[in-house]
Formats: sequence, structure tokens, C-alpha cells
Amino acid sequence: MAKVALVTGGQRGIGAAISEALQQAGRTVVASYAGNDAAAEAFTKRTGIRCFKFDVADFKQCADAVKRIEGEVGTVEILVNNAGITRDATMKRLTREQWDAVIDTNLGSCYNMCKLVWDGMMARQFGRIVNIGSVNGQAGQYGQVNYAAAKSGIHGFTKALAQEGAKAQITVNAIAPGYVDTEMVRAVPPDVLEKIIARIPRGRLGTAQDIARGVAFLTADDADFITGSTLSINGGQHMY
Ligand code: NDP
Repeated sequence: MAKVALVTGGQRGIGAAISEALQQAGRTVVASYAGNDAAAEAFTKRTGIRCFKFDVADFKQCADAVKRIEGEVGTVEILVNNAGITRDATMKRLTREQWDAVIDTNLGSCYNMCKLVWDGMMARQFGRIVNIGSVNGQAGQYGQVNYAAAKSGIHGFTKALAQEGAKAQITVNAIAPGYVDTEMVRAVPPDVLEKIIARIPRGRLGTAQDIARGVAFLTADDADFITGSTLSINGGQHMY
């Protein structure tokens, strides 16, 4: 039977490409999202992939949703922690709310979702977890203290959890995308974006499919010797 893959934030942007890549790899995919019902409906209509609405920053909502997904679709054997937000501000203006929102949504969500599928993966002695970090978690970025801290935290989280899962054939890896052409990046002012692209040796933004390909690779059944790694997919922007 096809393994169930859950992709958080999986109905648009990079997450949508990941959901579709895993579907093409023969997985039964479910996607989560925060509130964009229109995107979720259109995505399900186009792909047949079911979408579940819950806040990945809220443990109780995650617990209820995982229970529902496992009851209605099947136990989650592949988890992609992709949902994320930015609330950019320099330290002078960065509010406690902006800090908490970004840490809770980007990093707290990895705890929430991994915690909820971990016992099942341990019991079955199989699991694939991919956490979506960022080049800005590796290199830092002006005006993104909160985001860089959360994404850098994801990279440490990944290495620690990989050690706990290794004997049970649960792999835990991260992908650190560079700048990818999605709504998140389209929100960057054009003059800033131009400067960013000028610093990418490959000379272009990444595509969502560039990242999805990496997730499909890391979640393959036979990718069981790759764990605790961070795969940089950034057009050479940061060679880490
Ligand atoms: P988008 O803004 O296009 O999509 C974000 C997705 O996350 C949406 O599906 C959104 O749901 C969901 N989401 C946001 N907050 C929550 C929440 N609290 N609970 C549940 N779901 C939530 O982002 P991208 O596709 O650009 O980014 C995807 C991931 O890749 C993020 O983790 C991002 O940090 C990372 N990344 C992106 C880069 C880029 O250049 N785009 C570069 C490096 C990393 P909804 O549609 O309902 O709002």
C-alpha cells in the first residue's frame, strides 16, 4: 500500500510542488494549510490531494489534525515540515509578537508535527522526515533575526533528531533552499530582489520544483543512509 506523506503548507508555493512530486513518486499525499481556502480548493481540484486546515504553531490543533488524518487516510510515514512565514524587521523595530510568530510557526511546528508522528514511526521502524530550512538560516540575513534564528534552529533540530531515529530507520534531513520564486519572495521589493539575484552564481531564482526534487530524493524508501544532512539547493548562492 502507498505510504502516506503529510506536507505542511502543502497546497501552494514550494509545498504544492513537494506534494505533487511525492504524489508522482507513488505516495498518498495530504497537505496542510493555515487559512487560504481558495488555494486549497483549487489545489485539491487540480491534483486530487486532500487538504487539512490547521495552525502548525498550535500543538492542540496539530494533534487533532494528525488524529483525523491518520483515521481517515492512514498513518503518516513521511512528514515534510514546510509551512513557514516571514515577519521581517530590523532589531530596532522587531516586536516580540513578530519574534514569537516566526519562531512558533517555523520552528515550533517542527516539534509539534514530529512529536505527533514520532511514536508511530518508532513502532513501525520506518520514517522519513524532511524539514525545510533556508539559506538565511545558514548565512543570516539583514532584517531577519527571527527568521534566521528559526531556520538555523531547524538545522540543529534535524541533526539531533536524526541521531534518535537512526537505529529505527527513521531518517531526518533538512533542505536549505536559496531564493525561490514564490509569493514569499515576490513580496521582496524589486530593487532588493535584483541585488539578490545578482549574488546567485546560477543567475536565477530557484523554482519550487528545484526544491521538490530534493524532497523526493530524501524521502525515497532506499534513501536510508542519508540522515542528519542539510541539502543546500540555492544555485550556488551560499556554499556551506
Ligand atoms: P508561501 O508563503 O508561498 O506558502 C506558505 C505555506 O505555509 C502556505 O501553504 C501557508 O498556508 C502555510 N502556512 C503558513 N503559516 C502556517 C501555519 N501557521 N499553519 C499552517 N500552515 C501555515 O511560502 P513558500 O512556498 O515560499 O515557502 C515554503 C517554505 O520554504 C517555508 O518554510 C519558507 O520559509 C521556506 N523557504 C522559502 C524560500 C523562498 O524563497 N520562497 C527560501 C528558503 C526557504 P496558507 O496558504 O493557508 O496561508
